[in-house]
Amino acid sequence: MAKKTRPRPKKRRITKPLRDRLARILYTLDETYPDSRCSLNHRSAFELLIATMLSAQCTDARVNIVTVDLFRRARSAKAMAAVPIDELEMLVKTTGFFRNKAKNVKAASELIQGRHKSKVPDTMEALLELPGVARKTANCVLGTWFKEPVGVVVDTHVTRIANLLDLSRNKDPVKIEQDLMALLPEEHWVRFTHQLIDHGRAVCVARRPRCGECALADDCPSAS
Ligand code: SF4
Repeated sequence: MAKKTRPRPKKRRITKPLRDRLARILYTLDETYPDSRCSLNHRSAFELLIATMLSAQCTDARVNIVTVDLFRRARSAKAMAAVPIDELEMLVKTTGFFRNKAKNVKAASELIQGRHKSKVPDTMEALLELPGVARKTANCVLGTWFKEPVGVVVDTHVTRIANLLDLSRNKDPVKIEQDLMALLPEEHWVRFTHQLIDHGRAVCVARRPRCGECALADDCPSAS
């Protein structure tokens, strides 16, 4: 009997029309959002790491409110690791999933203090070992703070707009990241994310994209 094999996902061919369209999209994003940057307030790699962990399922605006008191209470891994868990839970409560987030913030702080001499590690491998840190958070810290992007941060805005622009046909953030890394020149990896997030907030809003006022409309297959 013939052996059954799973169909393998087809790798997308990067054609010249796709390359040309992408080049125009990147140019338009640079023109439209020249100052896009991480909207989470932070003064150190540690603060950025914690803010990014708290931003899961929460708006950056809410995280920025919460981190004012949180970082006033503890600005270093050592100080954060020493905050009692019930106090930490109260401090991060309004970001949602607060028990899990508080537990991860404390455990990650302890690991940074113990294993990394209180310094946030600057490799993907070491960051992924921290409790509650997945590729999105690690990519954000590496690209935004250490200026060493090893990938593209894929959040809900990037997921949605990369699909609408047909830069990825996948729904899984890890696969979308792979698609974008294959397509985008490396120097765009960090700012492309921030630009799509700004675009998702200002124009290509989730409920009703404002295609009529979108600078990318001519290069967007989903424009209506
Ligand atoms: S044309 Fe519409 S769907 Fe496409 S990126 Fe712009 S707002 Fe979003």
